[in-house]
Amino acid sequence: MKSKLDLMKEIRDEVFNLTSSPLNKYRTENNNFAVIGAGDHNAKIMFVGEAPGANEAKKGIPFCGASGKFLDEMLSSISLDRSKVYITNLVKDRPEDNRDPEPSEIDLYSPFLDRQIEIIKPSVIVCLGRHSMNYIMKKYGFEKDLLPISKIHGKVFKKKDIDIICLYHPAVALYNGSMRKVLLEDFKVLKTYI
Ligand code: URA
Repeated sequence: MKSKLDLMKEIRDEVFNLTSSPLNKYRTENNNFAVIGAGDHNAKIMFVGEAPGANEAKKGIPFCGASGKFLDEMLSSISLDRSKVYITNLVKDRPEDNRDPEPSEIDLYSPFLDRQIEIIKPSVIVCLGRHSMNYIMKKYGFEKDLLPISKIHGKVFKKKDIDIICLYHPAVALYNGSMRKVLLEDFKVLKTYI
């Protein structure tokens, strides 16, 4: 049987060679990395962001820029170490100029996220921002509960084997300081999974 690490490496190689994606071309032209994910392959808590930003694409590490700094701050606010969780994105290559991913790009990359969820088998998926919220909520049959993130942030949606929590994307706190408190408060819900 293949190990979790081997299965993750297969995903890495397939994303690397995903020449059908326009973001692959942008990546190679700019000497960027694809960002597959980082953390514990046996994590109970899995975070799913939107897509790598400029810092992430330069280093190949998710959430290693300004948003990541605030994510780290939220993790330490509940005494949770980054190495104990798994962090990834819906889209693995950086869209130019930090634009939103296109639906066709989400279609191309989401099967990799599906496989990562299968490998890790988390107890809870934390969606960071509306793109991963839309994808994950639909994937788990919560389409009828989908509302703007302002209405459902911090709520827990329970399935038999998995809970889904939607949070604002950490970047919102960088543009709007008052959102820091909201995110830090919502983050407390994760304490029950530690
Ligand atoms: N924003 C994201 O959604 N993901 C990252 O990895 C970094 C910033």
